[in-house]
Amino acid sequence: MSYQQVADDVFLINGTDVNMVLLRDGRDLTLIDAGWYGDAARIEAVLDKLGHRPQDINAILLTHAHLDHVGAINHLHAYGIPAYTSAAEVPHAKGEVHESATPLDVIQRALKDRAALGWALRITRAGGLRKNAVPHIQPFPNEGPLDLPGHPVPISTAGHTSGHTVFHLPEVGAVATGDALVTAHPVSKIEGPQLLPLFFHHNVESAKAALDALEPLDAATVLPGHGPIYTGGIGKAVIEARAAVQV
Ligand SMILES: [Zn+2]
Repeated sequence: MSYQQVADDVFLINGTDVNMVLLRDGRDLTLIDAGWYGDAARIEAVLDKLGHRPQDINAILLTHAHLDHVGAINHLHAYGIPAYTSAAEVPHAKGEVHESATPLDVIQRALKDRAALGWALRITRAGGLRKNAVPHIQPFPNEGPLDLPGHPVPISTAGHTSGHTVFHLPEVGAVATGDALVTAHPVSKIEGPQLLPLFFHHNVESAKAALDALEPLDAATVLPGHGPIYTGGIGKAVIEARAAVQV
């Protein structure tokens, strides 16, 4: 399965153990996140299945600059597609600061856990050890809803990284939560709404507090950065995530 249709004009694209969200308005598209470096061909294949070309993407929005979300941004920039993230995340995306367990840390941790071993191999094949800075990244052009297909609304959820942003989609009652709230991950022992294992977060206390910004959103559908779609509502997802914090 390479993608799922969430609403008339909203699609979840499955990358290598990571999700992206595609918003459509006629011929025009917005892409939220860009998978791993090696997921570029998958993205292009989904666009093709939907009858689109990469040039139809008006902009890429980045929840945060970890390698499993930045992936194909530079590849797609060859089509002239701009990329935006929060002002606080720009230095991270440009590679001026580092806010993650290094890919090697993550893989070494995974090697201790047989269940995660397959994942470590998959992400290595998908470019998980490559540096992937985005020199052309820009801060969001305005506050509030963005003038892009799907009219996504950036909501600051700093913690997982210093400038992590989720994108509320009020027109369809959904929210793309990136890594502020996920529903599964190959290195997580649990399923359902949750924070990622805490070693993944730049600031653990802020990552926990960021759930407060998600809770009141009007969103029945949760489109996480990792794991399956959750349709029980973001409020319930946050309550479950708070109860499920792992070390
Ligand atoms: Zn992340």
